Amino acid sequence: VLLLAFTACGGGSSSEESGNQEAGSSESMEGSIAVLLPDSASSARWENDDRRYFEQAFEAAGVKYTIVNAEGDARVQQTQAEQAITNGAKVILLVNLDSGSGAAIIAQAREAGVKVIDYDRLTIEGPGADLYVSFDNVAVGELMGRTLEPIINALPDNPKRVVQLNGSPTDNNATLFREGYYSVAKPYYDSGAWELVADQAVPDWDNQQALVIFEQILTDAGGDVDAVFAANDGLANSVISALKSQGLGPVPLSGQDATVGGIQNILSGWQTMTVYKPIRLEAEAAADAAIRLLRGEDVSAIANATINNGQNDIPFVKLTPVAVTKDNIAETVIADGFRTWDEICVGE
Ligand code: BGC
Repeated sequence: VLLLAFTACGGGSSSEESGNQEAGSSESMEGSIAVLLPDSASSARWENDDRRYFEQAFEAAGVKYTIVNAEGDARVQQTQAEQAITNGAKVILLVNLDSGSGAAIIAQAREAGVKVIDYDRLTIEGPGADLYVSFDNVAVGELMGRTLEPIINALPDNPKRVVQLNGSPTDNNATLFREGYYSVAKPYYDSGAWELVADQAVPDWDNQQALVIFEQILTDAGGDVDAVFAANDGLANSVISALKSQGLGPVPLSGQDATVGGIQNILSGWQTMTVYKPIRLEAEAAADAAIRLLRGEDVSAIANATINNGQNDIPFVKLTPVAVTKDNIAETVIADGFRTWDEICVGE
């Protein structure tokens, strides 16, 4: 059955879904948990994956909660935090849009006696959040590096011309992802086996800007690019669009988030891999911690690591990412119930 589904999904196009609903708006929000999502354009994960797992976890626990999305506007997120505090939220789960605005939200919450969990992205300005829940984000980049490494080395051209298309400069994760793939690539850059053709960040992870940036890189390189480290599936999809529009074929290409579009691009042969971060575990760990904080419990004991945010050591619930290629889609994202063949094969 899996083989059939796999075969049936050979030529997918990329589509991202999103939903937008507010929970519990009519009753009092005193003693609630507020989730502040960053946007819906930088990755399909926030609206498609994180939201549904939070809803499931909070519904199961019977706690009051709201989930809002700032759609990329840090001032909107600031207002959403203020509103949540005014309405009686006692814990904020924050995915910051940049560390400055994140630190301002944390400061404001602290003043009101509200706890803050940094969700997925670490706030590296100010004293930091009460807890950080995320993945080993350097390992995310290393998986990209290690998966592409043998494929790049097997290419006929010398040197292998490599592009690094990094995430947003305002997202601490983007720095960590780059650190991961760069650590794998650096010995090859140093030896001259690989050549770093371009190393560019994409502001706000904006896929439209990524397309423009990568088209320019291709033009400057005369189309001679052998492999691309793209920091997530959205950026990878922009790389694919640019290659296609310039009449070029697939190159070894990384991604992240195991989005529907990313898996489709893997099945169609345009993307080599994606990094699957079991978001259910991330959201459940964060929801569990938020509920403990709501009850006034200490959460440092549920952390399995600490991370320094520049000023303080923050207790860190650190989860493990998984590399996904066409060879293990069934055993990873499908077996976990994270993706279904139905959503991947949509439009086939
Ligand atoms: C997350 C990634 C996501 C990116 C863009 C990062 O902070 O870790 O999963 O693709 O933001 O939203």
